[in-house]
Amino acid sequence: MVHPHTFLRFPGGLEKAVSFTFDDGTVEDRRVADRMGELGLRGTFNINSGWFGRKTFNPRLTAEETVEALDRDFVEIACHGAFHVDPTRVDASTFIWDVMRDRDALEKLFRRPITGFAYPQSAFTKDAMELLERLGFEYARAGGGSEFRLPKNCYELRTTCHLLSGGFDEYAEKFLPFRCSDDLWWDSADAQFFNIFCHSYEISGKGGRWETAFRHMEAVAGHSDIWYATNIEVIRYIRAYRALVFSLERGSVYNPSCRTVWFRHDGGIGSVGPGETAAF
Ligand SMILES: [Zn+2]
Repeated sequence: MVHPHTFLRFPGGLEKAVSFTFDDGTVEDRRVADRMGELGLRGTFNINSGWFGRKTFNPRLTAEETVEALDRDFVEIACHGAFHVDPTRVDASTFIWDVMRDRDALEKLFRRPITGFAYPQSAFTKDAMELLERLGFEYARAGGGSEFRLPKNCYELRTTCHLLSGGFDEYAEKFLPFRCSDDLWWDSADAQFFNIFCHSYEISGKGGRWETAFRHMEAVAGHSDIWYATNIEVIRYIRAYRALVFSLERGSVYNPSCRTVWFRHDGGIGSVGPGETAAF
């Protein structure tokens, strides 16, 4: 054996994943989702169900319009607080009320468990992270990141870059040719995740920037070495990887999850099927 370190690879042994995430459920989400589908991209839309149909200040889709626009197989619907409550500005009971009211409304509307969350204003505390885990959420996302690293804590998932950022091309130029390092001691030995964030109302505001938004989406679309996934698909995959049970010398591994998991180990790429044990 070369070394016991093991590194995550995405499905098929891929080294990179791309996801999009849009907040607030504004009317422009429909056009974004349409283009996302055409390009074979996947993404997460974080909805404030308390503001369905609101006409003022960044108009929102109604409940029916949200289903019509976003009930697609390439979309994850996630919570964003019924009324966008910032957990750093209220007590725990108000935060819980806002989060669970949103989850309940979205679950009834979409008839599935809704267990992703985006922090309103990207504001969070240790208490909020722990609460969301205890409330049954699988992950929680904030903005403010600038890296391609996988999250260490699923309740502190970060975005990499804003879709309309002037620096977007630079991120894409760095990410698209990226190959994982063979150096076991570098973070870049692990697979990388490009999580692109936006509010769709920002695209139509200030003179309209649809061309820029779509050009950036097209730049990362259609690459055979990229896994396209929603935020929760990435998180579920990372959790499945982290749940792998390796033998001491890492000559064998058990996969307790319900999906095939890929990894780099001992200089090669391996995989283990759901519920299976593999030796290498
Ligand atoms: Zn928001």
